[in-house]
Amino acid sequence: MDYKSLFTEISILLKAMDDRGEVASYIPELGKVDPGSFAMHLTSVENLGFGLGAMDERFSIQSIAKVLSLAVAFDLEDDRLWRRVGVEPLGSPFNSLVQLEYENGIPRNPLINAGALVVCDILVSRLEHPERDFIAFVRKLAGNPDIDYSPRISASEKRTGFRNAALVNLMKAYGNIENDADTVLNVYLNLCSIEMSCRELAQAFLFLAAGGVNPLTGERVVSVSKSKRINAIMLLCGFYDEAGEFAFKVGLPVKSGVGGGIIAIHPGNYSVAIWSPRLNEKGNSYRGMKILEFMTTWTQSSIF
Ligand code: GLU
Repeated sequence: MDYKSLFTEISILLKAMDDRGEVASYIPELGKVDPGSFAMHLTSVENLGFGLGAMDERFSIQSIAKVLSLAVAFDLEDDRLWRRVGVEPLGSPFNSLVQLEYENGIPRNPLINAGALVVCDILVSRLEHPERDFIAFVRKLAGNPDIDYSPRISASEKRTGFRNAALVNLMKAYGNIENDADTVLNVYLNLCSIEMSCRELAQAFLFLAAGGVNPLTGERVVSVSKSKRINAIMLLCGFYDEAGEFAFKVGLPVKSGVGGGIIAIHPGNYSVAIWSPRLNEKGNSYRGMKILEFMTTWTQSSIF
């Protein structure tokens, strides 16, 4: 693929592109970000890198972390994981309580809040030091030892995260949370608070474009089969209730976060991270989605 020409085209497109929507502010600290920020970085499986904008500036990755916690829990639990969380798209907001009540405390998928809370419960049960072990995993994937949680962001969300508290307690009532609900909630909020740059994100997710192997170290992160399945879950569930639209217009496994970040994977080819904090009405980065649509159109290459 001619990534160099692609990035030249994207930089021209970006200059003419409008930017719409609002920065997420239900977590007060997220509302302080500069709405006009922009960064993008693509890393190919051959470890070639291409970037634009503030590609080394760190931002709150929020729900993007849910894919990495899924990778750890799936590796630990194998198919036992699917007794506690499904693999179906939701079609309602990411923090909805309604489906959980109807379906007896089993979340639809691991990329919505309820599913990620179950995944965090597994990390608490299975890892000696869940937060320490998880951040070590992320640092190794990204090849950068100073990636960290943001106590400022997690404290901000702790003060306002009543829905997440409700989700974890409802699942506890159904017997789908083994550990203390507050402990699990804390791990979840810390995971969401991780700050990374687009360059680091693209590097950290490259194993999902490379059949489960981290090209930086040559180490296997997850099996080929698990890598395929995580990509499938991303395609179906990674873009809030706009996942169908994203598959239709872009055609890549993806995960977005309310911090305005998006990570997308082209299995066998590349991972690409974009950060542009203004969100559309479905909670996805407005410019991020437009640029990814342009990318797969211009390269004539999606997974389909
Ligand atoms: N920490 C956020 C929440 O639980 C994550 C939301 C997201 O990025 O989807 O509300």
